[in-house]
Amino acid sequence: MSKDRTEISDIGEFGLIDLLNQKISIKNPSTLKGIGDDAAVIDAGEHVKVLTTDLLLEGVHFDLSYAPLQHVGFKAVAVNVSDIAAMNAIPKQITVSIALSNRFSVEAVEALYSGINAAATHYGIDVVGGDTTASRSGLLISITAIGEAKKEDIAYRSGAKLNDIICVTGDLGGALVGLQILEREKQVYLANPDMKPELEKYNYVTARQLKPDARMDIIHEFRDLGVVPTSMIDVSDGLASELFHIAKASSAGITIYEDKLPIDKQTYETAVELGLDPITCALNGGEDYELLFTIDQKDFAKLEKHPDIHFIGYISKPEEGKVMVTKSGTVVNLKAQGWKHF
Ligand code: ADP
Ligand code: MG
Repeated sequence: MSKDRTEISDIGEFGLIDLLNQKISIKNPSTLKGIGDDAAVIDAGEHVKVLTTDLLLEGVHFDLSYAPLQHVGFKAVAVNVSDIAAMNAIPKQITVSIALSNRFSVEAVEALYSGINAAATHYGIDVVGGDTTASRSGLLISITAIGEAKKEDIAYRSGAKLNDIICVTGDLGGALVGLQILEREKQVYLANPDMKPELEKYNYVTARQLKPDARMDIIHEFRDLGVVPTSMIDVSDGLASELFHIAKASSAGITIYEDKLPIDKQTYETAVELGLDPITCALNGGEDYELLFTIDQKDFAKLEKHPDIHFIGYISKPEEGKVMVTKSGTVVNLKAQGWKHF
């Protein structure tokens, strides 16, 4: 038997990207950053442009039995805007490509676009093009976003320095818990279509899953307060996984504190109801689309009173590892479980 077949699951999504990246070389001096951050960075004279793309597939990234098309459209834009925000840049234009099976009507595509247009208005961006094609299996949406910033404002994953403060916006784990609830209610419905799903009690967590909002508000506040994060990434795969990206890119160690992790009350209670550990959800749940960043200690006073920014730890020496101090004071190694696609 031939042995030269490697399963993608053996190396994982990030291992695969690393492998592909080894064969790619940058030729143009205007390419300031290629693969390896939330968005590429391109020299455009006075400013730099940032460029990112994301692909959403029906049945993998969304389930139309509980995700309304408007929300899918909004989310497809928001996840791209979140990557632009993670570079500390302002989104300006998107292209939208869709593939549709004959299950979809004109009205369905209009519903999808009402969400896309609502997001474009919300984030102040223009839809400037795209592509439309047929699909054999459901709906596929691919959005590419372009943003703008001053070169000195760009926040890479690689800029975290010793003793910088690690910050995260909003709260964590909600989108994962919301997904579990939506899946549970779907199974209940499939088993008994007369049962009406009771989702009101879970309104916050389900909204976190179905209609995430990229944190452009925080980027505008950075501008107002004169703060440039030393490093930044958005939380799409889970806090622990994103901390590992910052640690690797910055050659840094990480120390975070369990009691500082922001978890919403409904997320906490619903996790417990589902038999999940809320801390594990906060560390490894995906799709929160919050911002994880580091700041120099001199900037702490500017952000200290912000109601939606949480200070969860600090950057340590690489040899100190990536650890969490638990509520009881025990030091445990962080694991980057993340969101498993393969
Ligand atoms: P994010 O979660 O921020 O969208 P990803 O983990 O998807 O980032 O991707 C990490 C980096 O790898 C990014 O720079 C992205 O552009 C790049 N990348 C992902 N898939 C591919 C691919 N198939 N070919 C080239 N670059 C890729
Ligand atoms: Mg990202």
